[in-house]
Amino acid sequence: MIKLLLHPSQIITVDTKGKNEKRGKDLKNIAVLCDHSLLIENGLIKDFIPDSSVNNIRADKIIDTDGKIILPGLVECHTHTAFAGSRADEFRQRLNGVHYEEIARAGGGINTTVTAVRNSTFDELVNIVSPRVEDFVSQGITTVEIKSGYGLDFDNEIKLLRVIKNLNELFQIDIIPTFLGAHTFPKEFKNDREGYIALIIEKMLPYISENKLAKFCDGFCEETAFSATEIDKIFAAASESGLGLKLHTDQFNSIGGIDVALSHNAVSIDHLEVLQEKDHKRISESDTVAVLLPGVSFFLNYQFAPARKLIDNNAIVALATDFNPGSSHISNLSFIMSLAALKMGMTIEETISAVTINSAKALALNQDRGSIEIGKKADLAIFNTKDFSNIVYGVGKNLNQMTIKNGNIIYESDGGKR
Ligand SMILES: [Zn+2]
Repeated sequence: MIKLLLHPSQIITVDTKGKNEKRGKDLKNIAVLCDHSLLIENGLIKDFIPDSSVNNIRADKIIDTDGKIILPGLVECHTHTAFAGSRADEFRQRLNGVHYEEIARAGGGINTTVTAVRNSTFDELVNIVSPRVEDFVSQGITTVEIKSGYGLDFDNEIKLLRVIKNLNELFQIDIIPTFLGAHTFPKEFKNDREGYIALIIEKMLPYISENKLAKFCDGFCEETAFSATEIDKIFAAASESGLGLKLHTDQFNSIGGIDVALSHNAVSIDHLEVLQEKDHKRISESDTVAVLLPGVSFFLNYQFAPARKLIDNNAIVALATDFNPGSSHISNLSFIMSLAALKMGMTIEETISAVTINSAKALALNQDRGSIEIGKKADLAIFNTKDFSNIVYGVGKNLNQMTIKNGNIIYESDGGKR
């Protein structure tokens, strides 16, 4: 099946010249192609056709993209979408002056969501989470990562990972599962940290690996959660189980998470709001993606990660929503791009690289997606605007009109014409 996406005003290729990543200065090179149409065949990018020769092309289907822009399908590489319950109460408390960490210490925070998840059945969770996935699809997102981490015991962590697996079967986009058993210590193990870590290492990881329930193992390295030594132990076991590694670190306190993550060649280190000066260069010299989550800083009214310094030091920077009920109740990726531009000093071009090729790299999927290059998956987002600047300029506005996954149209907004 050959399809022609005809006469877009711009194709934002994010061409990497085969490198499949954008590092440092290269983030701003998004390779905008004008006066070309895009040919896709059997679900893959086939060719770029100059407008002068487009009449010679025989296609089975023509998709009119006149006056629109074609982007690589967006990749959302860090979410906690699989949650139940609401934390609106705690949100109200915070707005009355109580700090996020105080709420966590008082048994709220993540534990509130853990209780809600434990009290929900598999089917209830699938029903709760499905509309959230639909919302991602409507934004032009063609790959999304979802973490567990609200079960925190064997049955409930496995339940969450099975929910994520089921959603991946129900939806046409790719949903990448991450095991986040090391999110925080559940109440029943508050005074037995070693016991919980043993449960993760001896029971959860082997079962998850055997049943292929997760691609990555993640953890939260923080004073209120896991120490660097504890993460080191879990990472060693996860690596042995064949899982890739990701780490929440340097969000409120810098307690050695960067060292552990880099020593285990983690695929990504996420947050980095309090990243220390000495670590900028080390991250930049590594192959690990720095995933920044400005929605959290905005939502918690907290400092932003040093995006500018990381990029200027040659790091591979990605952006994500961190969509979750407590610290970033934000699922709008274009809003995150605007925050990154306005609050972290990133250019519009850099934010585009950060939600396409670099976020694909943060999921180790950059070989076949994240940019519009010949031979890659035809995962595309068609935005109803003539110029890419409007994505960031139209703060929070969803400009996506059509989502294409593996060459198939899987979403069209009501205003779309075909
Ligand atoms: Zn997170």
